[in-house]
Amino acid sequence: MRRINLILLFLVFQSRPCPAGGDPYRLYLRGDLSAAAAAYEAEAAAAPATARPLMNAAMCLKQAGRYRDAAQDLVKALERDPHDADVYSELGWLRFHMADYSGAASAFETAIRIRELHPRAELGLASVYANLDDKAKALDHLEKYRRLRPDFAGVDYILAWNYMNFNMRKEAEEALIEALRKDPSFTEARLPLAGIYAREGKFNEAWNQYYRVLDYAPGHPIASKMMKVLEGKLTKQPEEIRPPFRITKPLEMAPLDALAKLSSSVKIRVGIGTGRTGKQGFNNVLGVKSFEGLLVTGKTSGKLYARIPPDEVWRVSYEDGRVVLRDPKGTVYGRFTGHLVLKPAKPDGSVIFDATPKCRNPWFRGADRQYRGYIELYPVEGRGIGVVNVVETELYLLGVVPSEVAPQWPYESLKAQAVLARTQVLIRRARGGIHKKEGYHLCDGEHCQAYRGESREANTTTNAVVDTEGEILTYHGRPAYTFYHSNCGGWIQASKEVNGWGDSPYLVTKPDIAPGKHEDPLDPWDFQLWITGNPPANCNYPGRVRASEFRWMKIIRQKDMTFRINRDYGIGEVLDIVPLRRSPSGNVNSMKLVGKKKSVVVDREHLIRNILGFSSLKSTLFEIEVNRFRNGKVRNYWIYGGGWGHAIGMCQSGAAGLAGKYGVDYRGILEFYFPGTGIRRIKYVRKK
Ligand SMILES: [Zn+2]
Ligand SMILES: [Zn+2]
Repeated sequence: MRRINLILLFLVFQSRPCPAGGDPYRLYLRGDLSAAAAAYEAEAAAAPATARPLMNAAMCLKQAGRYRDAAQDLVKALERDPHDADVYSELGWLRFHMADYSGAASAFETAIRIRELHPRAELGLASVYANLDDKAKALDHLEKYRRLRPDFAGVDYILAWNYMNFNMRKEAEEALIEALRKDPSFTEARLPLAGIYAREGKFNEAWNQYYRVLDYAPGHPIASKMMKVLEGKLTKQPEEIRPPFRITKPLEMAPLDALAKLSSSVKIRVGIGTGRTGKQGFNNVLGVKSFEGLLVTGKTSGKLYARIPPDEVWRVSYEDGRVVLRDPKGTVYGRFTGHLVLKPAKPDGSVIFDATPKCRNPWFRGADRQYRGYIELYPVEGRGIGVVNVVETELYLLGVVPSEVAPQWPYESLKAQAVLARTQVLIRRARGGIHKKEGYHLCDGEHCQAYRGESREANTTTNAVVDTEGEILTYHGRPAYTFYHSNCGGWIQASKEVNGWGDSPYLVTKPDIAPGKHEDPLDPWDFQLWITGNPPANCNYPGRVRASEFRWMKIIRQKDMTFRINRDYGIGEVLDIVPLRRSPSGNVNSMKLVGKKKSVVVDREHLIRNILGFSSLKSTLFEIEVNRFRNGKVRNYWIYGGGWGHAIGMCQSGAAGLAGKYGVDYRGILEFYFPGTGIRRIKYVRKK
């Protein structure tokens, strides 16, 4: 073992001097962090006038968990260039995480002396004083930090964290509400808010907050448990606390000539009420209705079983492996083992699922759902009622585009989304598709693409579908893999970097910045400043895109981290978490979890996102800092992250930015995110 290391080290030294971005950078991307640091240090030795290689070495050492060595390299870097505020600030953070508070404070103060407005140094000082229990100073610096990063939900969260430590409950509550206003998906902020409400005896409010946690983190253990605990204490019915979204009248939009122009397109099957893996949820009870009335027939027999009058809600339940249909009085209209078809009595009609509180599937729980086309219902052994929406491709897209992007976004970005969503249908339909076993082409969640049906439709997105009717993205004449994600965080990731994503020549890495501008991949030092800062990017688009989708942070307690990781991997008490392999985009593609009993390496995108804390990380684009007590024990983990989603293909927020900031049209947007592809128009051939 030792000999191999020596040989490796020898090779590294042999190859110096390294060109910038050369060998040490490759070692860093590969996750050979100590070797990368050694190579950067070798560069530093060869170029005694520059500080940069030492700063890079320090960041590699930090990532490897060697904070003391990292701090030493930064001190050496400051001997070469004593005027860099950021180096002082990062030195301060290394010291802070090692519980050297006086050393940290002096470094942060120097950073601010050099550059007055330094958000990260202000946060650092606040954190130092918080750990020293100096309430006034901690809050003073947090306020300064808040003024410098006003849109960042992390600020209010840290503020709240401190208020709680100082037993300032009212202030903590306000700060948490503010954090959640900026980032409704901020589970780590919602849980303590619910806790505060529960302690104050506001059980309805507490219950509501836990309910909302489950919206973003289904199955969250604490939220699920607490909801049960609170149930007996509620003074209102759950439906009163959380009024469901009801569809009480047909969809009204400004008159659309566009829709009339659509020609009929191929019918597809969409699984409704599906979960993360694209499988159907457990539907035991469903309410169905229609403004036009419904005809209920057997799929194979064609036999008419019932006519549901307009506006009447009928119950469908799963009983002993059968689908049972009842009218509002409870009269049973049949117990079925096969497929039932529910068709609106008029061709343009729709089927509505009534948000019955009895339904266990979260999909139908909080909101009525309305679907064009028709619905098939069937029993799924042991799981409940299967629901499939059979709908023409173009009409399906009317419900997809507004579920995927905001209808008020710049119009050309909506058109780009429509083309991608349509291409996705072709890809998913090919060879029966990945949901062949489940009996549909696409699921209705993020697994394939979000589809919330007709009630989501909006004029702008409908026009975008009609304007691009039949257009798909192709590569060498064939449908391209049109991956897209909510927000890349500033860099697009190449598909070949991620385990199991294949290597498509048009799914490349590039900065998500103004078209025509060039930027090299970030070295370890620049990455640190970039991920903890607020850099320009197409998807950094205040007013249109939530700041919390572009940059986010979490602080996770050691107790919670150890509990969560040990649910999946029995590694014992967590001692360290080390991101290993990174894409040039900065995304972490393998990560080492070091435990008291053993270490494991996690290298799948969804596993990396799911394992750190109780609600999954928005993305794999993050930096993690381990905060320790003086005795070396872990206090908590600070995770600074960017973006939402896998960062491959089109960045939806970035597309909005390209259209809105630079006037790029949808063809330009698609060319930007999928270089080398083209647009082709398909003709729909009607199938029987
Ligand atoms: Zn799917
Ligand atoms: Zn982006």
